[in-house]
Amino acid sequence: MMRPRTHPFDAIVVGGGLAGLAATHRLAGHGLRVALLEKRERLGGSSAMSGGWFALSGTALQRRAGIEDSGDLFLADMIGTGGGFADPALLTALVDRQAQAIAAIERADAWTDELKVSAGMTIARAHLVRILDVLAHLEREALAAGAVILTGRPADALVVEHARVRSIRSAGDVFTAEAGVVLATGGFSRSRELLDLFVPDQAAAMPYGGVGNTGDGLRMAWMLGAGLADIGHVAGTYGQHPDATDDEHELLTANYLGAILVNAGGERFTDESQSYKVLGTAVLNQPGGVAFQIFDARVRALSRPGVPLSDMERIEELGHLPSAPTVAELGRRLGMPAGALERTVGLYNDGVAGRREDAFGRTGLVNGVGAPAPLETGPFYAYPAVTAMTSTFGGLRVAPDASVRRIDGTRIEGLYAAGEVAGGFHGASYMTGTALTKALVFGSEAADTVARG
Ligand SMILES: Cc1cc2nc3c(=O)[nH]c(=O)nc-3n(C[C@H](O)[C@H](O)[C@H](O)COP(=O)(O)OP(=O)(O)OC[C@H]3O[C@@H](n4cnc5c(N)ncnc54)[C@H](O)[C@@H]3O)c2cc1C
Repeated sequence: MMRPRTHPFDAIVVGGGLAGLAATHRLAGHGLRVALLEKRERLGGSSAMSGGWFALSGTALQRRAGIEDSGDLFLADMIGTGGGFADPALLTALVDRQAQAIAAIERADAWTDELKVSAGMTIARAHLVRILDVLAHLEREALAAGAVILTGRPADALVVEHARVRSIRSAGDVFTAEAGVVLATGGFSRSRELLDLFVPDQAAAMPYGGVGNTGDGLRMAWMLGAGLADIGHVAGTYGQHPDATDDEHELLTANYLGAILVNAGGERFTDESQSYKVLGTAVLNQPGGVAFQIFDARVRALSRPGVPLSDMERIEELGHLPSAPTVAELGRRLGMPAGALERTVGLYNDGVAGRREDAFGRTGLVNGVGAPAPLETGPFYAYPAVTAMTSTFGGLRVAPDASVRRIDGTRIEGLYAAGEVAGGFHGASYMTGTALTKALVFGSEAADTVARG
């Protein structure tokens, strides 16, 4: 039998999305011999597919826009959004170390001027960043600092010797990592087996995200007794067109600009200002798992071409935004029961005008922020959308230093995790932009912990 080939390194990073590239870049900067193993032929994972929104507080962009945010408010919003289930120590660390993410975006020269309130926020804190520039910059700098980046290289198993993770097996080869292994394998949105196991109520959500994200890191660490966090709360995101392809996501949240959501019967069923994760579950329970974002010309004019979640031009170009001069005609085009959509829009408009209480308690555009307006100016539009499992925000139990923990809190020596593979940051729901921020912050953090030894 052939002996396995051994590749000697100080540290191994598994997965080449944002968390993995941030860790690799930083480990190389610390002077460690580091290799990144990516199972797909291309780096990027879900990070490269993402909208590029980062949740950050106290930025220059916020100051320029006159937004007074603070770390305390950011923390309070995340704790509130997570329904008290997230780990406050992890969230505090995220807020305290967000300067690392801000600096990395700065170095990559990847800021845009887009800033908005989004799911889970009480203030404009979602910053649109050119995510591909950040990824390319981290890769370039990591290579320049001597990192080895291997694609088409799936990691298969962690190897423990003398009570410590010391190497990793990949397709018959062994990569040693005396200083530590950083798991950055993303989530499990592409694993039917794990989705059915952890969140069977989400079975109808469209699988999305990086196609390599089959929960490999989770399984490898689980084999060593790693604990889990937030897993049962994993939920899909509402707002994806049913015909969207892997090449281009079609996420639109016109509801945060003033649209209502109605089911195939033309009825509203929930408060549209809630997090798109909460809406995701509500929509899965509607007939056919679909909900239409219904809006008028006033909302249509708020479209932001090129801005993920708000780009109605692109959706229209793709032929996915039917419209009609009147609400009645739109209802007919959508095959809804006669009069249902008109009745629903009429009742909603009465609520907005203060003539009655909103049937679902909606008081704002998003998380209670912003004033809803009546839908009364034709033409009227309908965007049909489903729930997509874009990310699985529960994962391995980790400490604020990114070390992986067992269920009793003890440390698995030599093992670290960052990005979507790590749980504990979101609890019951998710604030827009915190997935990318945590990937960038804790990728770097894992590297610093490994380097400290
Ligand atoms: C359409 C879409 C839009 C989104 N928009 C936003 C947004 O605007 N803001 C936000 O905060 N979040 C967003 N998210 C979520 C966010 O993109 C992810 O949570 C985040 O990018 C995860 O980063 P990561 O580095 O942990 O994982 P990924 O970027 O997914 O990288 C993981 C990598 O690990 C590789 N891998 C897996 N298993 C192995 C193995 N065994 N061996 C080697 N490599 C392996 C994968 O192939 C992949 O390349 C979005 C997600 C999607 C899908």
